Amino acid sequence: MKKKCAMGFTLVEIMIVVAIIGVIAAIAVPNFIQARKKSQATACLRNRRVISDAIDQWALARDRDGADQPGTADIALFIQGSRLPMCPAGGTYQWSDVDNSDKVLCTVHSQQLLTEQDKVVNP
Ligand SMILES: [Zn+2]
Repeated sequence: MKKKCAMGFTLVEIMIVVAIIGVIAAIAVPNFIQARKKSQATACLRNRRVISDAIDQWALARDRDGADQPGTADIALFIQGSRLPMCPAGGTYQWSDVDNSDKVLCTVHSQQLLTEQDKVVNP
């Protein structure tokens, strides 16, 4: 009599592997989403810092005082590449005047205001 050779996996083994993959995915996916949001917020903060510095440079170069409000084209001249950076989360940037150049807001990340510490450029 020929002995039947069992090839492959049993249903229980496959279910165990699927369960392990499900547990790992349940742990990893929220962390990936959180890391992505944090990365976007950091990039947005960096972009707003660039815009804030460009507003200050515009005021200094054009001899403007605190009440003047620069336009997008004015600021773009003082940004590398002559283009305003874009929020990675799709937000738009808003600013008011030179006195409030540290208050460049994003429609998505507006709760994070620039502080003097954020404006310090690392060597
Ligand atoms: Zn943003």
